[in-house]
This record gives sequence, structure tokens and C-alpha cells, in this order.
Amino acid sequence: MKAIHKAALLSTIVLLMGGISCIPSSTPPKYITERVVIIVVDGPRFTETWDEPDRYYIPIRNGLLKQGVMCQNFYNEGVTYTNNGHAAISTGVYDNLNNWGSSYPANPSIFQYYLKQKGLPASKCQLITSKDKLSILADCNDANWAGKYMPETDCGNGGAHSGYRNDAVTYAHIIQTLSKKHPNLVLVNFIEPDGSGHNNDWQGYINGIRKTDEYIGNVWKYLQQDTYYKGKTTLMVSNDHGRHLDSVFDGFISHGCTCEGCRRIEFFAIGPDFKENYTSTKNAEQTDIAATVGEILGFKATHSNGRVMKELFK
Ligand SMILES: [Zn+2]
Ligand SMILES: [Zn+2]
Repeated sequence: MKAIHKAALLSTIVLLMGGISCIPSSTPPKYITERVVIIVVDGPRFTETWDEPDRYYIPIRNGLLKQGVMCQNFYNEGVTYTNNGHAAISTGVYDNLNNWGSSYPANPSIFQYYLKQKGLPASKCQLITSKDKLSILADCNDANWAGKYMPETDCGNGGAHSGYRNDAVTYAHIIQTLSKKHPNLVLVNFIEPDGSGHNNDWQGYINGIRKTDEYIGNVWKYLQQDTYYKGKTTLMVSNDHGRHLDSVFDGFISHGCTCEGCRRIEFFAIGPDFKENYTSTKNAEQTDIAATVGEILGFKATHSNGRVMKELFK
């Protein structure tokens, strides 16, 4: 008995000492999130998403808000075209690159930072887009980064200049890629509702907002079913740009200026490190996404001057 007591006492002392000396290294990681999926819904106005009085066109996201956060004052403060908006998200820097897929962003992307800093293979980052021209997000013109640490891509009908594809195809590819390749960082583009907006098809525009909302809900559901993702994945939803106010140019049909309709966009996030049922009124912008993703995944977006949106964290 005495020997057992002595052993117990000794192990308690060892544990205590170990505990004291190990406090810094045994502190649990700051964030639970290990994977991030960013979905960019192309070109809805804020007035048809979160600012619609009943959120009638995004019922799934509105329901998920009970477990997540959204920003009431979130803006694209750069050029309000597709490639520019996406590049602001993926690099954390506003960029004047052309919108037609013939120029790369000037700065490295969250994929490149993540793969380099974590020493992971390309397959752990996936760029999945309905628009082929967004394949440019995989690379950049910075001489130290060009051609390196690039994600795997699945853009349009088979890469640059292959044409746009339907979001239903993109949605199917997302689920396939998540289940087969288990990437840790994914950026998705859905072409709707932008496509229908440009066609002056109001009903198609609204349907595009509803349909992408459904896809987003299904992706979140999938992430809760796969043990690689469940409980350690953050899903973010944003837009590349909005569309003109009804009083500006041709209204919802186009975008590209600095009107409130073009600049004001959504930011929604759901995941283990984010507050629940929280609406932030603090000003935030597109370039803050890269810094925020870097903060929770543990990498630095060194070329970005975006801000970590700490107000959204638990
Ligand atoms: Zn767009
Ligand atoms: Zn405008």
C-alpha cells in the first residue's frame, strides 16, 4: 500500500511539474478549424440576399445563421468585376487585372501561402469554378511565387478558355472532390445569379440566388457527414461584386461601377470558431477574407493588408 501511495504521490508531482513546465506548448491550438471552404456566389445584390426583408431568396443561409455569422456592412472596395472580385478574395489585395482571364493576379493567393507554409501537396487546395476564366486564381505574377505552390483546378469546361459551365456540374464536382481528395482549402465560384442578370432575366436572377442557396446548404450538409470535415470545417460565403442599383445605368443587368449596389456584398461564415446567430455591423471588406482564413488555418497572407475579422470569432 505504502509503495502504491508513494508511486501515486511521485506521479502526481511529476504531472504537476510537467504541467507547469509545459504550459506554453500544451496550450490547445487557438482555432478548431482545420479546413475552409469558400463559396463565391457570382454577383447578387445585397438587397436580394441578406437585406431582402424576409430573406426570401436565401432561406437555407438564413436558417444556418442560427449557427453562424453574417456581416451587414461588407464591401468590395476595389473593381467590381468578376476576376477582380475573386482575386481580392483569393489574394487579399485589390487588383486591376483584366476581367477576361488573360492576366494573373499580381500577388500570391491563399492557396500558395497555405501550401508553401504547410508543405502540403497541390491536391490539398482545390479551385472549383463554373467560369473558366477564373483559372487565373491558381497562379500570380509575383516573381517569387509564379508557377509555385499552385492548387489543383477544375474551371469551366476544362480550364482557361474552355467556356462557362452550369452550376449543377460545379456542385457535383464539389461533392466528388471533397469526398475523393479531401482538400483542406477550397474556393468555389457559382456563375449564378450573374449569368441570368446579364441576360436581363429577373426571374432567372432570383432563381439563381435560390438555387445557389440550396447548393450551399447541401455542401454544408455534406461537410457534417464526412468525418474528415465534421466539426473542424468553416464554410464561408461571399460575392465577387453586387450589381447596379435600380437607379444606376441598366440596374440589376450589369455591374462594374462604385455604386452602393455594385460594392455592397455578403459575408457569411459558419464553423467551430465563429459566433452563432451573430450579425456584425462593423465595416469589413473583401480583402479581409484572406487574412481571416490565414488566421484560422495558421498561415500568413504576407502581401495582403486585409484585416482579420476577429469580431466574428467566438
Ligand atoms: Zn461576377
Ligand atoms: Zn454600379
